[in-house]
Amino acid sequence: MIQGIGTIDIFSNLDLLSVAIAVAAIGVLGFTVYYSNKKSATALAFFLFSIITIAWSIANYFQYNISDPEFSFRLTKIVIYLATWHAFLFFHLFYVFPKEHFALPNIYKRVLIPFVAIASLVTLTPLVFESIGAIGQDGHITKIINGPAIALFGTTVLSFILTGLYLLIQKMRSATGTEKHQLRIILIGTLLTFILLIIFNFILPVFFNNSDYIPLGAVFLLPFVMFTAYAIFRQRLFDIKVLGTSFLIFVLAIAVLLEVIFSDSNSVLIFRISTFLLVLTVGILLIRGILREIETREKMERLAKDLARANARLRELDQQKSEFLSIASHQLRSPLTAIKGYSSMLLEGSFGEITSKKISEAIDRIFESSQRLVVIVNDLLNVSRIEQGRMKYDFIEFDLKKTIADTVLDMQPIAEHRGLALSFAAPAGDMNITADAGKITQIISNLIDNAIKYTPHGSVSVILEKKKADTVLIAVKDTGIGIPAVEQEKLFQKFSRAKDAAKTNTSGTGLGLYVVAQIALAHHGRAWAESEGEGRGSVFYVELPTHVTKET
Ligand code: ADP
Repeated sequence: MIQGIGTIDIFSNLDLLSVAIAVAAIGVLGFTVYYSNKKSATALAFFLFSIITIAWSIANYFQYNISDPEFSFRLTKIVIYLATWHAFLFFHLFYVFPKEHFALPNIYKRVLIPFVAIASLVTLTPLVFESIGAIGQDGHITKIINGPAIALFGTTVLSFILTGLYLLIQKMRSATGTEKHQLRIILIGTLLTFILLIIFNFILPVFFNNSDYIPLGAVFLLPFVMFTAYAIFRQRLFDIKVLGTSFLIFVLAIAVLLEVIFSDSNSVLIFRISTFLLVLTVGILLIRGILREIETREKMERLAKDLARANARLRELDQQKSEFLSIASHQLRSPLTAIKGYSSMLLEGSFGEITSKKISEAIDRIFESSQRLVVIVNDLLNVSRIEQGRMKYDFIEFDLKKTIADTVLDMQPIAEHRGLALSFAAPAGDMNITADAGKITQIISNLIDNAIKYTPHGSVSVILEKKKADTVLIAVKDTGIGIPAVEQEKLFQKFSRAKDAAKTNTSGTGLGLYVVAQIALAHHGRAWAESEGEGRGSVFYVELPTHVTKET
């Protein structure tokens, strides 16, 4: 190839163009693979391989195109220095592929890397390339005299390449599915590149003394880089946006590059080279940005999936808990009925008169506790029914005033036992409503039971009022411990107890008010609490429509 000083030969420009295109493509691919998964050891290995490929390609090109023999000889040494690392990184790529994580093994730290470092340094000494053998008319080196260590260089490079190939084939053999496919693609690219390299960079120069094609090294390496990048991309679901952008940047870079090559003055040349570098840098940054965006999106999708999975699991656990509650409370019921029934019969004297006051007091305690347990078990059972949507309502017309009066009467002994006055006030006359009588009774006994539980001394009064023509209001008022304002709303939630509730009553479950609220809601009514604060008593309200016809 002939090149005059100051002018640029068209053939040399074609060489430069093809090398530059290959270098740009390798660069874009290397960066894209790396930024697509920065944490992946395979992506990093590929990136390092691309960088050394670019360095090697550029040195290789100029070594041949520089007409100063001394400088060219030095560049030749740099080329083989880089070639040593190049071969090592080729091996490394297949050692790692397709792993995401890779911790440098000891053999790397103690043997391989020091060995490559020494071998590559030797290439810079006359031990490998001793001196210039002959120089052509145009100033190009036509012959190099090899040193004694040329064999070391050859063996090193060849060993790495052959081991790399061996690893690639081994991995392909044992791989299955996508991975096998990926490895097959890489193998095709590798073979293409090696065939080209062996022919043009080894056989022709060594055996036929024809070095014309050596500068095109980058072009020969391109198939390998392209096939490998494609295989790595396939590993992840690669976004079309990234590929599109990479391609666009590549085309842009080439367009600018053409301008560079056809520059006719040095200042224009420098300007256009700067533009080319700028396009490449901005392009790579752009690709990085897009990849980051994709990464964030993927992360969010993963999080959303995890969340959905956790939610499903929680629902499942919740369901299991409801079933457990339901079974457990059913099992508790029958023994409880027996305890309550027998203690009541004992108190009534069905098994003979009880003469000792101590014994009767003890049985009284048993009876009272069993009654409380019945309330708790019923609450548990109701909660599981509500949660499983199995709560059945039976709407009938009944006199609410009488129902409340009866419940108050039932609870009277417990209140008396606690030294509390329990009263009931309602307007004169009947107060008929349509509702589930059993459930309304449960609401009232729950509220009175609570009022008694949380009132150390004083009184509990139940008040029934007609609010509007079609609404009734039940209020259960006590002079007890009261409720801090912040707690008032959350008391109606499942398992919720006020902070100091346990001080007054240790056995609460935090379910009673939840059941009250749910039953009121099922009647299209509502329940709420009011209190002036701690120690100042509370009022629990339940508002119900007088006529509910439809079950909810
Ligand atoms: P439990 O009484 O079993 O804890 P509830 O659902 O019946 O469960 O009540 C929830 C919480 O509401 C109680 O733990 C208590 O903190 C508060 N509470 C209920 N009734 C009263 C009341 N009359 N006075 C003060 N606090 C009350």
